[in-house]
Amino acid sequence: MAPMNSTLNAIPLTLAEPLPVAQRRKREADKLAKRLRHQVGRAIADFGMIEDGDKVMVCLSGGKDSYTMLDVLLQLQKKAPVSFSITAVNLDQKQPGFPEHVLPDYLRSIDADFHIIEQDTYSVVSRVIPEGKTMCSLCSRLRRGALYTYAEQHGFTKIALGHHRDDMVNTFFLNLFFHAKLSGMPPKLLSDDGKHVVIRPLAYVRESDIEAYADAKQFPIIPCNLCGSQENLQRKQVKKMLEQWEKESPGRVETMSRALGDIRPSQLADPKLFDFLSLGKSGAAPSPDAHAWLSGSETPHDDD
Ligand code: SF4
Repeated sequence: MAPMNSTLNAIPLTLAEPLPVAQRRKREADKLAKRLRHQVGRAIADFGMIEDGDKVMVCLSGGKDSYTMLDVLLQLQKKAPVSFSITAVNLDQKQPGFPEHVLPDYLRSIDADFHIIEQDTYSVVSRVIPEGKTMCSLCSRLRRGALYTYAEQHGFTKIALGHHRDDMVNTFFLNLFFHAKLSGMPPKLLSDDGKHVVIRPLAYVRESDIEAYADAKQFPIIPCNLCGSQENLQRKQVKKMLEQWEKESPGRVETMSRALGDIRPSQLADPKLFDFLSLGKSGAAPSPDAHAWLSGSETPHDDD
């Protein structure tokens, strides 16, 4: 087993603080780093996210989530029982004010393999979306398209995205409240065209832990809102609701997140997932004709 890279693990000690405070802070940060490695490792194992020989493309936006994902994956790679490669890939969308040197400087400083794709999706989005409307949905679609194309052209077998536990619960409620579906953001999925396996190694990680980790590691964060777009209103509402719930009942988001992995189709109401028609049926009696029920006409059961 190779030793872990010390530059990756090192949480900086803040020397401006009195030594005991700095030491306590470092101890807490080390504990947090261990928890994150454990949670990411568990998600990888639970969902079979990474296999021997995988070429993993880690999508790096410059936000706290993707920095944390890359950092933890690079640590786990050193002691993983399988061999896989990691390449950090960023899409420079040509937003005005995007500090294009920040990510390359950081990635070189940690000796990571990386690539920056340059594609001016910003001009497309700002031309198509009327002023004052949120641009995030189209922007994300174009970003996804560019990244997936790059992954295909370069033979990446897995695409890692930095969504975390809170994103997953948030998406579940968005779908429930605004799209009338029980559906969320899975830890692993096959893209619609069947060409890409997308993984979310931070599936078990709390957003507040990521914030604390990014802070401790002093990642050079690039804000996503350089373009001036506002977050989708529905997403904002759900986020606020979850924050309020968490304040009133700490641990509620964790409980809901666990529920996403403990689904009982027989206790819901989707006949596509559970065969309610056959439930308790004796013999080979045919199922009632739904159209006959609706029209009120006679069915085999009316004769009983
Ligand atoms: S905030 Fe701007 S860059 Fe970020 S997703 Fe939205 S439109 Fe795209």
